[in-house]
Amino acid sequence: MTSHALDHIVIVGGGTAGWMAAATLSNLMQGTKTKITLVESEEIGTVGVGEATIPPIIAFNDMLGIDEDEFVRETNATFKLGIEFVDWFEKGHSYIHPFGDFGADFDAIPFYQYWVRSSLAGRDDDLFSYSLMVEACRRQKFMRPVKDRPDSALAGINYAFQFDASLYAKFLRKHAEARGVERVEGKIVTVDQDADTGHVTTLTTDKAAELKGDFFVDCSGFRGLLIEQTLETGYEDWSSWLPCNRAVAVPCEKVGDPIPYTRATAREAGWQWRIPLQHRTGNGYVYCSDFLEDEAATETLLSNLDGAPIADPKILRFLTGHRKKFWNKNVLALGLAAGFMEPLESTSIHLVQTSLARLLTHFPDKRFDQTDIDAFNARTLREYQFVRDFLVLHYTATKRDDTPFWRHCKIIEPSADLKRRIAQWEGTGRIFEEPNDIFGTASWLAVLYGQGYRPQSYHPLIEKMPIKRIDGVLASIGKTIDAAADFMPAHQSFIDKNCKAVS
Ligand SMILES: Cc1cc2nc3c(=O)[nH]c(=O)nc-3n(C[C@H](O)[C@H](O)[C@H](O)COP(=O)(O)OP(=O)(O)OC[C@H]3O[C@@H](n4cnc5c(N)ncnc54)[C@H](O)[C@@H]3O)c2cc1C
Repeated sequence: MTSHALDHIVIVGGGTAGWMAAATLSNLMQGTKTKITLVESEEIGTVGVGEATIPPIIAFNDMLGIDEDEFVRETNATFKLGIEFVDWFEKGHSYIHPFGDFGADFDAIPFYQYWVRSSLAGRDDDLFSYSLMVEACRRQKFMRPVKDRPDSALAGINYAFQFDASLYAKFLRKHAEARGVERVEGKIVTVDQDADTGHVTTLTTDKAAELKGDFFVDCSGFRGLLIEQTLETGYEDWSSWLPCNRAVAVPCEKVGDPIPYTRATAREAGWQWRIPLQHRTGNGYVYCSDFLEDEAATETLLSNLDGAPIADPKILRFLTGHRKKFWNKNVLALGLAAGFMEPLESTSIHLVQTSLARLLTHFPDKRFDQTDIDAFNARTLREYQFVRDFLVLHYTATKRDDTPFWRHCKIIEPSADLKRRIAQWEGTGRIFEEPNDIFGTASWLAVLYGQGYRPQSYHPLIEKMPIKRIDGVLASIGKTIDAAADFMPAHQSFIDKNCKAVS
């Protein structure tokens, strides 16, 4: 039987997406005849941002066999237990979207249902105090989950990382090169296509290196060298939902110990991120250019840093949305080449990870079965839509109307799906997870509640439980979480003891 297995996979781009792809594929292709080459251009460089992540990255690193302490040390990383949203609902208000669950479910009904019932009965109680991750953030504590005591509150610790994006790419490069990925330095200047199929066949660099391949992974960043500039795939513009289209980014000196969470502070025409690393703090202001000039955004950012800037502010332009096809012919786009949504919930690196997982499911051979490609595209699109809706949720319920930008946000029309999810929560007090949605019940609960949406009802089956008993159980769960958060070590001490960066 003729083998149709791929001979040569060429990855274009050596940013986070490119090296994530190289590390994953080299792990997978070990022992096969398929060769993997990554071509990148130091002259073009990488986007240089993308420092906050969400918990599934732990599974990604695990899959690659990465030692977590070594990874934290080498990327100057800190641990992340959630995102604090400051001034989003209204000025002076803040809440934390934590990773991990609230409270503990009992009698087969989710915890939050009891909390809703109790609060509708008049108990004045902070939902967020039932999250161990929130309580740990408030106390600046961190430890990894305990594995040997599944019944302990400490078993439910859920975390991600805040790291230096360029160091993460370097870290993955070492991993991929050790597994046989060949790196070619150079700027691609010519892309050849097959005259009949339109498939990409050969890339030529400015150093005259010729790279013939049968499958190309386009990780070339916003430009989408193969997916757009060559194949003209087209772009779906989502700026009517998410109007921010610029960011100005600048790192600054760190002041004090790094906190175990990312902060997103709403500003005049967008929001500012603050990502604490071991050696510095990453900052940026994401804004909409219809409402704010670049100079004013830069000034606002520079006047809201907690340490001295250590580089020049860099302006980045983007259009929220995605390629009409993520996979077109023999080109798969990943990372910024595939699409972009603002980093409010740190989802971009995760979308690279899930796309790679999906690629493994629909892995092609030289025949490029169209049903596989279509399935990949449909599933990826659905995932992007879920992320988009979750981001829009942060903008829809704000009370803010103090600037033209926030008044504009009030007229954004949520998708039918998002409207349904909001109505379901408000009407029945219930949240249902959707397959393929990155964000589970606890995340939707945190942001729905944090943004001011209040439910009018709860699960009918808890009606029979006396309210006194519910209040008693809530109080006891609250105490357990308090004690668990007290028990955890300080975030900085945990780093010092286990994974302090050398510089
Ligand atoms: C403002 C902002 C903030 C962000 N914050 C977060 C965050 O907190 N969390 C998160 O998950 N994500 C975040 N992201 C997204 C994240 O930065 C990207 O998803 C991630 O860095 C992947 O980028 P990339 O590898 O696709 O592109 P890039 O980093 O732009 O890399 C592109 C690569 O392609 C190469 N290249 C391009 N053209 C050529 C050519 N002609 N020849 C050879 N090589 C070429 C370049 O040299 C480079 O190596 C953010 C993005 C932005 C814009």
